[in-house]
Amino acid sequence: MPSIVISCAGDNELARKINDYLMDKITPSHDTIYISLSEDELEIVLEKLGVSKDEIRKLLHDFIKSNSELADYYSITEFNDNVFVVGIPKSLDEMTVNCEICGYIASSEDDLNIHKRTHGLIFIL
Ligand SMILES: [Zn+2]
Repeated sequence: MPSIVISCAGDNELARKINDYLMDKITPSHDTIYISLSEDELEIVLEKLGVSKDEIRKLLHDFIKSNSELADYYSITEFNDNVFVVGIPKSLDEMTVNCEICGYIASSEDDLNIHKRTHGLIFIL
């Protein structure tokens, strides 16, 4: 049976919230048979719920917009026609790799270590 998967990239709590949200919106009777939550992933059998993929996409966007703490950081990416990934885009993840001394944004852990050594040199001088 065709189904779609919503992955929350390791965020089980977010997956649970999306599960509750979708359940409210598309299954008023809270018939949970066709939405299954497993750790950070939701699987939805669209056909049986009478909703389209477009509606799921819209609901996901609505969900994110309705949460002020998510709206600024999270985005939805689609893969392989049947997978939605809800999470923080890679570019934002990488921005967390920054220097606590001066706020320099490194492109990787290695870059950060090299950068930090320059602070060491400056302090010695
Ligand atoms: Zn620095």
